[in-house]
Amino acid sequence: MTPVTAFNGRNVALFGLGGSGVATALALIEGGASVTAWDDGEAGRAKALAERIHLEDLDGADWTRFDALVLSPGVPLTHPVPHWTVERARAVGIEIIGDIELFCREREKRAGGAPFVAITGTNGKSTTTALIAHILREAGRDVELGGNIGVPILSLEPPADDRIHVIECSSFQIDLSPSLAPTIGVLINLTPDHIDRHGSMEHYAAVKERLVERAEIALVGVDDVWCHAIGARLTQRADPGQRVTPVSARRAIDWGFYVEGDKIMFRELDHEPQEAEEIGSLAGARTLRGAHNAQNAAFAVATCWELGLDDEEIARGLLSYPGLPHRMEEVARQGHVIYVNDSKATNADAAAKALASFHDIYWIIGGKAKEGGIEELRPFFPRVVKAYLIGEATEQFAATLGGDVPFERCVTLQTAIQCAARDAIRSVAPEPVVLLSPACASYDQFANFEARGDLFRRLALEIVSGQGEAS
Ligand code: ADP
Repeated sequence: MTPVTAFNGRNVALFGLGGSGVATALALIEGGASVTAWDDGEAGRAKALAERIHLEDLDGADWTRFDALVLSPGVPLTHPVPHWTVERARAVGIEIIGDIELFCREREKRAGGAPFVAITGTNGKSTTTALIAHILREAGRDVELGGNIGVPILSLEPPADDRIHVIECSSFQIDLSPSLAPTIGVLINLTPDHIDRHGSMEHYAAVKERLVERAEIALVGVDDVWCHAIGARLTQRADPGQRVTPVSARRAIDWGFYVEGDKIMFRELDHEPQEAEEIGSLAGARTLRGAHNAQNAAFAVATCWELGLDDEEIARGLLSYPGLPHRMEEVARQGHVIYVNDSKATNADAAAKALASFHDIYWIIGGKAKEGGIEELRPFFPRVVKAYLIGEATEQFAATLGGDVPFERCVTLQTAIQCAARDAIRSVAPEPVVLLSPACASYDQFANFEARGDLFRRLALEIVSGQGEAS
């Protein structure tokens, strides 16, 4: 745990006890603060009660006694409308902050120079964060990994001079962290997302920009218009001692980090055109397939390079990266057939990334369809040998696939994987893939995408071990 001493002897109101709320309350209490916590949900309150955190309905509380409101990132700060706790805090003029802000203040007090890598973007945050942490750990560094990736930042070991914190930040967390100034700030990409919670793309991009704005080293994507503009703006007004370096997964840029084939290159900034040098290779990195992962890897390699790792350490980390569950996760192999769990692909955009990464696909698809269905995936249909339809979206997807892709109505994931396995094992292709990349939410048949992916993994392992029916 990182005890937060910034509010020692003072009163803090804390709202939101799901996710990181309980860990945040405990860190504040450990640092000497008096915490009054609340959540509208009973489950959150029960967790807090078990930890002996003081609960009180903040609606009826006297807010003049509080020095700050610590808000969970899941609670609206601005859009669609500010949460009532935000209104109450504003009425008494106290600051509204989140757990990352508390960490930043503690870091400043304990070890201002402690290495702190903060990562954000619309897509690829968790992969990039996990990959950076993995490469650093494999190189023997003391690494703490957390933030939006699922481990509350204040549950980690405290900042120290030779300990690297690698932290995924959502836009909501950044919005609650006014003094965020990491050693290395990583902004991967920006496309419209969560606009309902940010009001406009402009506001969403402005919040994301704050993660790199005060970073000592800002690594900023140049492959989309929003990041490109942010990079240009920061470069113009960078303080001395601050460095803004572009990263591209699409083209060989004049200077900065970029992807060329399966290589990650670095070209130094100088007056004369410089030779680019190879600093990483994705050849043989089976867990980092696809152009989207090349982008994530470019940022991870750039970060590790900036932290002083050498080529060999970077190469070792890239090759041994185990991948994250449910994101193009290779879960089993039977002969030449591989089984890939991409349950996190809950919309067509995400499924496109998986379809672009494989050939000879036996595609399990369906669930609760999103707007637009799978129409945008049409360019990838030639890669699909056959589709296996499950869940509510079955008839809608059957209509889209039409005569272009052979398909079977399977209803359940159990039936779908058995049918796909039966067909794939007969394929003469070099590496047929049974792919769960459903392009749908899971709620019609599962509690969440994790439950769907876990079942796929278990069934695949049963099939390859001969307990399932397909072989
Ligand atoms: P995040 O944490 O931002 O949600 P993840 O690393 O968990 O991102 O990846 C989630 C999904 O987003 C992946 O399964 C893939 O479909 C897609 N994705 C990952 N990286 C990228 C990227 N760099 N660009 C576009 N899409 C990506």
